[in-house]
Amino acid sequence: MEETKCPHCGEALDVGSIPRLHMERYGRPVLAKTVCCGKAVRCTPYLAFNVRIYDGPKEEDDWGAEFND
Ligand SMILES: [Zn+2]
Repeated sequence: MEETKCPHCGEALDVGSIPRLHMERYGRPVLAKTVCCGKAVRCTPYLAFNVRIYDGPKEEDDWGAEFND
């Protein structure tokens, strides 16, 4: 994964574990103080997910839409 740079000083961004854990748990943006230079950053979490072909027995998705053959 490409590392995020601090928009203030350009060093590798580090906001500490508490803002990271908060974003993981609640999925909401946080206002955090950077470890590198002590300035304010707005951090917005985004969801990443893995995809693979489904070849199981279900014929529709979780919302009831039928798959094409
Ligand atoms: Zn910085």
